[in-house]
Amino acid sequence: MEYPWQVCNKKQREGEYMALFPKFSKKKDGVNVVMEQRLLQNTNNLILNAETCTGCGICVDACPEEAIVLGLVGASRRGAINYAAPIDVDETKCSYCGVCVIMCPFNALTLKVDGKERLPIIEKEGFPQYDMKAEINDEKCVKCTTCEEVCPRDAIDRNVPAYEGTYKGPVAGAKPKAGAMKKKTTFTVDKEKCSLCGLCGALCPAIVVKHKEFTAESGKVEGDVIWDETKCDACKVCVEVCPEECITVEREIISDKIDGKVDIIQDNCCTCRWCAINCPTEAITVEKIFEGDIEFHAEKCPGGCSTCAEICPANAIYLPTPKPAADMKHEIEPTIAVNKDFCILCGACVNACPGEDIIVLKRTGIRMKGTETDLFKKIKAKLCTTRTSKVKEDVPGQVNLKVMGKA
Ligand code: SF4
Ligand code: SF4
Ligand code: SF4
Ligand code: SF4
Ligand code: SF4
Ligand code: SF4
Repeated sequence: MEYPWQVCNKKQREGEYMALFPKFSKKKDGVNVVMEQRLLQNTNNLILNAETCTGCGICVDACPEEAIVLGLVGASRRGAINYAAPIDVDETKCSYCGVCVIMCPFNALTLKVDGKERLPIIEKEGFPQYDMKAEINDEKCVKCTTCEEVCPRDAIDRNVPAYEGTYKGPVAGAKPKAGAMKKKTTFTVDKEKCSLCGLCGALCPAIVVKHKEFTAESGKVEGDVIWDETKCDACKVCVEVCPEECITVEREIISDKIDGKVDIIQDNCCTCRWCAINCPTEAITVEKIFEGDIEFHAEKCPGGCSTCAEICPANAIYLPTPKPAADMKHEIEPTIAVNKDFCILCGACVNACPGEDIIVLKRTGIRMKGTETDLFKKIKAKLCTTRTSKVKEDVPGQVNLKVMGKA
């Protein structure tokens, strides 16, 4: 794909031709790296969120201009260096087409034309998109905390009111008491029996025993017992403490379903299935976007390395618990292993691995919706080429992969 400005661009790079436009720049803006191409009529920006980027390298294979290279994936993802992102985009080679934005499974890239998010490749030629399937069946969901806790991508939005027991009384800034369940509480006082002794009100903030002014005319304690349902926990302390046994408290549960909603934030979800596998009510359906296989040859790992486990965005890699010596039977214990149930075949571990031929990744399919264009078919062939890590770098600071087979 060559747009007219790229011809100028090439000449400009070669120092043969100094044109005013296009102008290019690349700058850091907080966690973002912003690539800019300024044309006479408009400005294009490709923005990489260096914190969200996992170094999976899918954009490297997807870019039709070969404008993206892998950087020091392991070191940057582990936080050993903070001056470089896991990938580097050549702002002068980029045609600002948006293919990488569509193909990034972690939503780490954004393309803006004159400040507005756009995807020129879809507008001009058409391009398929990931067919994301990650949903929660609200009927089955009991609003527990499991999916929120297991999700490695902060992709669960658990919007459930705090349990009423957390109410701290009339404290400045305290949230009003929320009901965990829909219920109806009734409180009755047998006025014939009640002596207005005030004990119940002294013990419970939901009750006020109001005495009328004491006057010699009646010579009696008179008044009312006032009860506030919103403050009552139906604990029945009042019932127990009443010396006249005149209070009745009853609580009826109208619905035992907790209020609120639990949702999956589609932009954050990487389809790892941690939530779907662990949901106690099988309320979650997630289908992975990549099909294929991954193999670890951990016997080749240099001692002490656990880079892949640290950087895996799906929390799929683990250090196996050592077996007792008596159970070993002369086997060599693996130092690292993958749980394939959670692996999304993103490739970040392959790119971060400092060893050679240790992790082998083979994708066989990609779930997409929309017409598969010729450009997409080429990208798919590259993404489905088996790959493994390589020790030697052709360009210092640039990760290379060993491609096994043909794209
Ligand atoms: Fe980073 Fe992967 Fe997204 Fe590229 S595709 S920006 S490497 S997360
Ligand atoms: Fe490559 Fe297009 Fe992304 Fe630029 S916008 S880096 S040309 S895929
Ligand atoms: Fe719990 Fe499942 Fe609902 Fe998540 S979807 S809150 S794991 S019941
Ligand atoms: Fe989170 Fe994985 Fe579930 Fe997506 S599939 S919501 S990333 S646990
Ligand atoms: Fe990605 Fe799977 Fe490797 Fe984790 S184990 S980094 S999910 S390819
Ligand atoms: Fe380190 Fe690679 Fe072994 Fe993972 S597979 S522990 S990154 S050498």
